[in-house]
Amino acid sequence: MDDQAFRKAMGRFATGVTVITTSIDGVTHGMTASAFMSVSLNPKLVLVSIGDKARMLGKIKESGKFAVNILTEDQKDMSMYFAGQIKEERDIDFEWIEDMPVLRSSVATIICDVYQAHEAGDHTLFIGEVKYLRSMDAEPLLFYSGKYRKFDKAEA
Ligand code: FAD
Ligand code: NAD
Repeated sequence: MDDQAFRKAMGRFATGVTVITTSIDGVTHGMTASAFMSVSLNPKLVLVSIGDKARMLGKIKESGKFAVNILTEDQKDMSMYFAGQIKEERDIDFEWIEDMPVLRSSVATIICDVYQAHEAGDHTLFIGEVKYLRSMDAEPLLFYSGKYRKFDKAEA
C-alpha cells in the first residue's frame, strides 16, 4: 500500500495537537504529537505514540514519565517549533509541576508515569498513568488534513 494514500486517509481524522514534554536530571525535551488518546478511567490511563526516529523515544524510556500539553489555538507556533519546523533555538520558559516541565497556558496539562510501552511497527505506544492534571477554558488548536484549524463552537 502506498504511504501517501495512508497519510491522506489518516489525515482525515481531525485531532487536537499536543506537545509531549519530559525531563532527565532537569534537562527538558519537547515534541509535537497528535497521536494521543484517553484509554481508561480506572485506572486513569492515556496513550501517546512516538516514532522510532524521534529523540523523544529514548528520553521517555529513560525518564519513565511524560507530560501531555494540549495546545490552544494561540499555540500553533509552539506546535511548529516542537515539530522541528522552526529552525531556531529557543529558550522555552517551562513551568515546573511535580518535577516535570510543562507549557504555560495549555488547554490541559496531563502528567504521567509510564505504565506500559508497546512497540508497534515504527512507533512505540506509551501508556501513561495519570499523576496530575489540570484544564482550563480556552479554544483548542486543531489539525486536519495536514493543516491547522480553528474550532467552531456551533453544535452539529
Ligand atoms: P527534535 O526534533 O529533537 O525537537 C523538536 C524541536 O523542539 C527542535 O527544534 C528542538 O530544538 C526543540 N526542543 C526540544 N526540546 C526543547 C527544549 N527543552 N527547549 C528548547 N527547544 C527544544 N511524531 C510522532 O512520533 N508522533 C506523533 O503523534 C506526531 N504528531 C505530529 C503532529 C503534528 C501536527 C506535527 C507537525 C508533527 C507530528 N509528529 C509526530 C512529528 C514530530 O513532532 C517531529 O518528527 C519531531 O521533530 C520529532 O521529535 P524529536 O523528539 O526528534 O524532537
Ligand atoms: P502527512 O501527510 O505526513 O500526515 C497526515 C497524517 O498521516 C497525520 O495526521 C497522521 O495521522 C498520519 N501520519 C503521518 N506520518 C505518520 C507516521 N510516520 N506514522 C504514523 N502516522 C503518520 O502530513 P502532516 O500531517 O502535515 O505531518 C507533518 C509531519 O508530522 C510529517 O513529517 C509527519 O510524518 C509527522 N506526523 C507524524 C505523526 C505520527 O508519527 N504519528 C502524526 C502526525 C504527523
